[in-house]
Amino acid sequence: MPKNEGPGKGNVLKAVFLDRDGVINRNIDKGYVTEWRLFEFLPDSLEALAHIKKKGLLAVLITNQSCINRNLVPKENVDDIHKCMLAEIERAGGKLDAVYMCPHRPDEGCACRKPRAELLERAMRDFKLSPDEVLFVGDHERDRGAAEAAHCRYDQVSERRSLFEITKEWLD
Ligand SMILES: [Mg+2]
Ligand SMILES: [Zn+2]
Repeated sequence: MPKNEGPGKGNVLKAVFLDRDGVINRNIDKGYVTEWRLFEFLPDSLEALAHIKKKGLLAVLITNQSCINRNLVPKENVDDIHKCMLAEIERAGGKLDAVYMCPHRPDEGCACRKPRAELLERAMRDFKLSPDEVLFVGDHERDRGAAEAAHCRYDQVSERRSLFEITKEWLD
């Protein structure tokens, strides 16, 4: 197998970038996580984040939250949700090294909303990572599109495959 390709090549990876909704926490049907009590960690996601940390990789959140500019939730509330989320993750032995968020609605045509690459590119620049050192894990074709646009590796959570299973495949 050529070097750097596919799961099991965690030796070259330095960071796991993660989408939030549907990867770390449960997606809300046709809605948004507007407050902390609606934030429900998916089974295994806390273990997955602890595993990423144990393996010495960075973990970076890359999330679209158009609920902010749709005026469904103030940005301060989303920041509060992230504060609580980070605390829970650390309590479980994991860490999120940074949070990158696009607050825009699709019709605003911003450069940062996935499937555009900007959030991933910004994170790679800030952490001095090259695309082949980054695995992006999402749950939607928008995430796959962003990974392709940024030339990162990509894997997708589904009902059959949790974040923990994916991180074990790539990092062990
Ligand atoms: Mg998602
Ligand atoms: Zn944006």
